[in-house]
Amino acid sequence: MRLLVVEDEVKTGDYLRQGLSEAGFLVGLARNGLDGHHLAMTETFDLIVLDVMLPDVDGWRIVQSLRAAGRQTPVLFLTARDSVEDRVKGLELGADDYLVKPFAFAELLARIRTLLRRSSTPVMSEQLRVADLTLDLPKHRVARAGRKINLSHKEFCLLELLVRRRGEVLPRSLIASQVWDMNFDSDTNVIDVAIRRLRAKIDDDFEPKLIHTVRGMGYKLEVESGDETH
Ligand code: CA
Repeated sequence: MRLLVVEDEVKTGDYLRQGLSEAGFLVGLARNGLDGHHLAMTETFDLIVLDVMLPDVDGWRIVQSLRAAGRQTPVLFLTARDSVEDRVKGLELGADDYLVKPFAFAELLARIRTLLRRSSTPVMSEQLRVADLTLDLPKHRVARAGRKINLSHKEFCLLELLVRRRGEVLPRSLIASQVWDMNFDSDTNVIDVAIRRLRAKIDDDFEPKLIHTVRGMGYKLEVESGDETH
């Protein structure tokens, strides 16, 4: 599942990203309100963890503009203030829950899980399926043609990203930022190596092939037309 964290404090942002990744989420991190607003409006997330006090566009404005655009992504506010007025304001503007800083990570995780359970957005489905490939998200299990496949955590995240955005060509830079949280100027060979390993596990012994290289552009996951089975 994909989470967006919007947090301008570097340490807190890193801490959240690391903790939530270890808890099995794909985490996008925006370090200011403008980037957070842009990502929230243009990409699909299952939930947004949103700091209220941001130097440019504050959390209130972000949630307000999300809701005005009809986007119902659940939002959990992080607030340094604990005043009833602020809480009421956040909830009135369309936040789903809030947590006062400093908070225990376990509590944040529990709140996130509760919100995700409550949310009924279609991206919340617990199983992803393409042809005879299935991903069980909560259990982190993958099977193809009924055969269980063991993937590392990163391989699972990579496959989840490809499956969620099936049919789309994903540039290496996007894969790098979403799965490894690296910038494109880092060593992108990492991605090619990971794709090769993933292919060996989910494609080598099976037909049809699902992962395709789009030369000069990136990778995509797709069932070639005519092959798709449901
Ligand atoms: Ca802040």
